[in-house]
Amino acid sequence: MRYISTRGRAPELGFDDVLLAGLATDGGLYVPAVWPTFTKDEWAAMAALDYAGLAARIIAPFVKGSVIEKQIGEITKAAYAGFTHKAVAPLVQLDTNLWSLELFHGPTLAFKDYALQLVGLLFDHVLKARKSRITVVSATSGDTGSAAIEACKDRDAVDIFIMHPAGRVSDVQRHQMTTVLSKNVHNIAVAGTFDDCQNLVKDMFADSRMRGDLNLSAVNSINWARIMAQVVYYAWAALRLGAPHKEIAFAVPTGNFGNVFAGYVARKMGLPIAKFAVGSNKNDILTRYFETGAMTANGVVPTLSPSMDIQISSNFERLLFDVYDNDGAAVTSLMDRFKQSGEYSVDAKVHARILQMFSGTRLDDNGIKRVIKETHTATGYVLDPHSAIGVAAAQAAKLPVGTPVVAMATAHPAKFPDAVQSAMGQRPALPPHLADLLTREERFTTLPNDLDQIKAYVRKHARHT
Ligand SMILES: *Cc1c(COP(=O)(O)O)cnc(C)c1O
Repeated sequence: MRYISTRGRAPELGFDDVLLAGLATDGGLYVPAVWPTFTKDEWAAMAALDYAGLAARIIAPFVKGSVIEKQIGEITKAAYAGFTHKAVAPLVQLDTNLWSLELFHGPTLAFKDYALQLVGLLFDHVLKARKSRITVVSATSGDTGSAAIEACKDRDAVDIFIMHPAGRVSDVQRHQMTTVLSKNVHNIAVAGTFDDCQNLVKDMFADSRMRGDLNLSAVNSINWARIMAQVVYYAWAALRLGAPHKEIAFAVPTGNFGNVFAGYVARKMGLPIAKFAVGSNKNDILTRYFETGAMTANGVVPTLSPSMDIQISSNFERLLFDVYDNDGAAVTSLMDRFKQSGEYSVDAKVHARILQMFSGTRLDDNGIKRVIKETHTATGYVLDPHSAIGVAAAQAAKLPVGTPVVAMATAHPAKFPDAVQSAMGQRPALPPHLADLLTREERFTTLPNDLDQIKAYVRKHARHT
């Protein structure tokens, strides 16, 4: 499979280079040059596969020509072997036509594990074939750091450095990162804010000598391989509920538009998906876009669903490229306008096309608490604040009668115990394998918000050279 940039001016690459590159050199995001598709009969036959088997089948066309092409079956098996539910991504029925797809049975209890557990293995296999190593450097305000650490720990070809703002992440989130004692994992508590951490990462990437010496790499959600891995659970849920013979809808709590874009890819591949109901919190740039056709950035406000406190949905660029029929110049001009003025509008015809497939809903913190409480009262089921936004989006979506709706449960409620407790008066417990998390031995290094000291630390501990 060849990959092209959404801005149309970067070299075409194969899967292995796209995996390692992240962003394209023209500032765009990589997408497959053609969307692979399966026939109705092929989809129907996939209903017999287990999660790892389905993953291998769906991923196969995307990794054609890669050094890992022949091993994809064993890699997906290893990636999902440690998940704590036999179904990997179980469906729980909440109402006549409403299901919760539980995407929190991976090591860090959030849906990012479903992509990153696979991506960590892919890195290791591709780098070993190339006899190379990478140094992953990333900043985190909570969830991404632990998922990336669990994905990269003990991988021979990867060293990982995660910076978090000292004293500013929750106890559960910190322990999920700092109790991983593997030799290739380095947690740095920076005496500063999350923005300081992010600036330190940017400055390190801007230092081309350091970047080259250490083969610096990122694991953020603009990486195509993460999207690819997420297509699998859309197909998994749809096949359980009657696809390809029946239409299904999805409701997705969204920040960067990565998760919901993976659903769009599943639709491009031939699954009958009627609609995507996109949920936002108070940071509602997407909801406003669906209402008006204009993308306008405002400031970010903190909410009870912190993993969605984002104002720029980077992966929306991939959707624009597709609905503009792969016109890289059109996408470039929209993105340039956004960078300059914080605003762009989409052509009316294109906007109408987008509205046929997507609808938007916003939910503020009071709404989040109300949905958690109502769902618990009606069904006994406990939602986390992000998943509550998914359920609200499902309830607001106008769908043909009888269409099953799958709401994505993107985190375990015990990751956000304070919010859940304030909504329904009970504190959710961590699952048994993490029950002792807060008493486990921690290891991290505290460093000042000083680029030279942090660079020296990373150089000293990275194995690349
Ligand atoms: C990252 C995250 C999201 C947002 O996902 P996107 O792919 O950025 O849309 C939603 N919920 C949780 C719990 C997350 O960790």
